[in-house]
Amino acid sequence: MTPTIAHVALPVPLHKTFDYLVAHDMPVVGGRVRVPFGKQYKVGIVSGLGNTSEFPLEQLKPINAVLDTAPLWTPPLYKVLNWASRYYQYPLGDALATVMPGALRKGKPAHREREKCWQLTESGKTQPLAALTRAPKQARVLSLLRHGAMSHSALLEEELNSTVLKTVEEKGWIEAVEEKAAKPWQQGYAVVEEKPKLNHEQAMSVATINANPEFACYLIEGVTGSGKTEVYLNLLEPVLKRGQQALILVPEIGLTPQTINRFKRRFNVPVVVLHSALNETERLNAWLAARDNEAAIIIGTRSALFSPCKSLGIIIVDEEHDASYKQQDSFRYHARDLAVMRGHEENIPVVLGSATPCLESLHNAKTGKYHHLTLSVRAGNAVKTQNGVLDIRGLYLEAGLSAPLIAEMRKHLSQGNQVMLFLNRRGYSPALMCHECGWLAECKRCDAYYTLHQSSNELRCHHCGSQRPIPHQCESCGSTQLISVGVGTEQLEAQLSTLFPEYKTIRIDRDNTRRKGSLEAYLNAIHNKEYQILIGTQMLAKGHHFPDVTLVALVDVDSALFSNDFRAPERLAQLFIQVAGRAGRASKPGYVLLQTHHPEHALLQSLIRKGYDTFAADALKERQQAHLPPYSYFALLRAEAHQSHEVEQFLHQARTALEAFPIHDEDCAVMGPAPAPLHRRAGRYRWQLIFQAPNRRILQQRLSVALPSIRQLPLAKKVRWSVDIEPQDMS
Ligand code: ADP
Ligand code: ZN
Ligand code: ZN
Repeated sequence: MTPTIAHVALPVPLHKTFDYLVAHDMPVVGGRVRVPFGKQYKVGIVSGLGNTSEFPLEQLKPINAVLDTAPLWTPPLYKVLNWASRYYQYPLGDALATVMPGALRKGKPAHREREKCWQLTESGKTQPLAALTRAPKQARVLSLLRHGAMSHSALLEEELNSTVLKTVEEKGWIEAVEEKAAKPWQQGYAVVEEKPKLNHEQAMSVATINANPEFACYLIEGVTGSGKTEVYLNLLEPVLKRGQQALILVPEIGLTPQTINRFKRRFNVPVVVLHSALNETERLNAWLAARDNEAAIIIGTRSALFSPCKSLGIIIVDEEHDASYKQQDSFRYHARDLAVMRGHEENIPVVLGSATPCLESLHNAKTGKYHHLTLSVRAGNAVKTQNGVLDIRGLYLEAGLSAPLIAEMRKHLSQGNQVMLFLNRRGYSPALMCHECGWLAECKRCDAYYTLHQSSNELRCHHCGSQRPIPHQCESCGSTQLISVGVGTEQLEAQLSTLFPEYKTIRIDRDNTRRKGSLEAYLNAIHNKEYQILIGTQMLAKGHHFPDVTLVALVDVDSALFSNDFRAPERLAQLFIQVAGRAGRASKPGYVLLQTHHPEHALLQSLIRKGYDTFAADALKERQQAHLPPYSYFALLRAEAHQSHEVEQFLHQARTALEAFPIHDEDCAVMGPAPAPLHRRAGRYRWQLIFQAPNRRILQQRLSVALPSIRQLPLAKKVRWSVDIEPQDMS
């Protein structure tokens, strides 16, 4: 029977689909339709077709337009998206809208519009350029086109304009033609760069992975500079040779021209890069190129995982431990986990690479779910960095720096090297205090102190973003003696120029790298040794190599050792290993120093003495004893409202719903409701509830039973709340 009813997933925050009558055109499952919704029209995805509806037929409205004649996604990807919507408890319509290019969301056609091209006419070909000395732009048009037709936009990029092109056209020298479909890249595939001979471990890794083109997950644990990227390049060879595509995920900050160029240089195949700066048309074209297998290599951050590659051969997740793979709001998916899922559905290998794999992946490698491959030798025989712990108990600190550290800095700087300092605290100081009475400038809307930002002359709340001028007087006693407490990157920068006036200092954090291209420019300046002292938050630790940095100091590690986030020590260890790996070179070994009040801390000791692997093994043991991930699976219910008791009450009711599950499983637990670590933010009281399950299946099962009834609670409409499955950030 021909279907008469379409179930449509619309981009609305409701966990259901909507039924519409099929009109003249037959929609397809996974394709877009435009439908009336309330007083407007919305673009949605057909999630199913049938002949029945729970509503009377006469209440259903017809579909307004069928926008696609084929599904937008390949079957394996569509399956992953459906799974992700269920697992991360995010409405399907919203999830699908999130992962499609904006142009498609608006209903634009899902095919590439061929561009207008220009070519020389017979008369244009014979036109002597010398006769055009007084019209240099026209001459340039002719000379460029003598090499063959060019697209309109490519000509505009040569600093020509539409008026010139029109003039030349009117003279009868050029004519517009349709863009020719490019020759399939598969026909010209070749390795076009001299490549290094792989060392034994690299060759082993490549051989292991390439031996089987079917699904398996590989964890490549390779110290920084051990040639992981070189391994990736070798993995791509057989894939591309078969005419298949490769999808490479990199962390947000890792999408640098250097990385991209390595892939572009090696093969003569089209590479598309998906990054946040693309405009709507560019994004759509990249998406279409992936879908139609016109792009052979797709590189991008987190959301590139949803590129609808027609013929995918491998997925690589570089720096797999990076926190940016987890989306922190709305559709809270984890791109690494979904990459494994997608690889499974596509039946292709998935490669996770890192110098500091996350504990979850190491656990999977240990239990045999992933194949564990190691690269232990640094290419080019670079020597290992040395480490030291600086016990700062009782020492006087100048801008957070102890005298031994300052002396060490002086030593390295005087030898013409660079020094890098890490401090994960932006601003001048984390608080402003009255010296007379101890009053602290506190955000009116949050349970937090204002951060002092001297450069912009204001107090800023890092939690709600509110700001105000720096007060001149204490609000409690009226004293004018206001002092800053604690050290942020801004203060460190100011103090260092006093301590080391003969050296230039640069600070790199989110405050001064917002502008596009500014980070690149700073990094180049650092490479050119325009600066000797580099200060940064962990942003500086990712993806960049600093051969002239011989001393790295982590100014304050204590906050990570005693954080209420159980992942803080893991992140500290990763930061430590990452920076150690990026400093120095063979002829200039690096030295990494940590300042701490707790030099005897067990995790710190295992990290410093025995390295990341031992640290990770110890940390995993601790997690196991405490029933923490990866030994259990968390779902975090966050809720907030202006009335604290309403939030608490809502989460109590949610708890009851979670515990009302018919099959009582011993291994599940509910913790809370408890006030969130930051109890009040932007005037709202925040509470949280943690649900803990022994595995993903039970987690999903319980939530999919409990959440529908939680959504029905009257308070669910009064408080703002969300579910975060396997949260990365518990604050
Ligand atoms: P990673 O990705 O692990 O940091 P890379 O692949 O970037 O390491 O390699 C680090 C450096 O060593 C690069 O300059 C790379 O060209 C070089 N390299 C990698 N493998 C080899 C090899 N087998 N022989 C020589 N040089 C290599
Ligand atoms: Zn605030
Ligand atoms: Zn005071």
